Amino acid sequence: MPKGKVAVVTGAGKGIGADIAKELGRLGAKVVVVDIDLKSASDVAAGLAATGGEAFGAQANVADPVQVKGVFAAAVEKFGQVDILVNNAGITRDALLIRMREEDWDAVLAVNLKSAFLCTQEAARIMSKRRYGRIINISSVVGQMGNIGQANYCASKAGLIGLTYSNARELARRQVTVNAVAPGFIETDMTRALPEKVREELAAQIPLGTLGQVKDVTNAVVFLAGENSGYITGQVLAVNGGMYM
Ligand code: NAP
Repeated sequence: MPKGKVAVVTGAGKGIGADIAKELGRLGAKVVVVDIDLKSASDVAAGLAATGGEAFGAQANVADPVQVKGVFAAAVEKFGQVDILVNNAGITRDALLIRMREEDWDAVLAVNLKSAFLCTQEAARIMSKRRYGRIINISSVVGQMGNIGQANYCASKAGLIGLTYSNARELARRQVTVNAVAPGFIETDMTRALPEKVREELAAQIPLGTLGQVKDVTNAVVFLAGENSGYITGQVLAVNGGMYM
């Protein structure tokens, strides 16, 4: 249980990140809800506060080192520490390789991968001193198996796995664990918008036969963020219905 712990969740204004932030808050964590959009971050934080939780919304582009420093300074000022970091912010800029624009490569690598480096660097400084930390990087099944039209996204998500391994080794001596969660196809606005036939084709690739739910990802993150996962580090927890094993 993350009760009393301080969690920073990036890209938490909506989608999977918002659900993770809400669940950590419901379980008693103090939550810093980070998003590039202040209103959505503040709304999620306000929802937590309305149900007796402690949270605040922080606006930041997590690819920007100055803004990232500001988030962690605010977290420490307000809550005194950071115990849990969930690097969840992510974007897609899909195109076939031969048409992919350099700016779309750079944007995806910056938001999906560099952000995790920047946030982890700040979090590690705080966590190392206290000899406690849980860092969870949200990767993707396509970082493990590739996907047509997503060279930038797949490279960023595979990069997060390498970052997880490296940081896990480096921070273990400080009792800071670093793990990745790799979701498969999850029911979100993006997948709900797909035609039924495409959804059926996706489901047919999944041994468990259905797309995952946001809650499936949240449950995995909450486990890795909790006290019962202290002997687990440098792992990639796949939440994909068996589509890649
Ligand atoms: P989402 O609904 O698009 O939410 C992502 C959030 O991150 C949005 O609120 C977005 O804000 C925010 N964000 C984007 N760029 C940011 C930046 N530079 N700084 C701070 N915040 C930023 O995405 P999701 O579907 O919940 O996905 C969450 C994570 O899971 C991502 O890392 C994604 O790659 C991963 N994932 C998702 C699936 C899936 O099926 N959905 C599968 C595998 C992995 P704005 O929207 O306002 O820009």
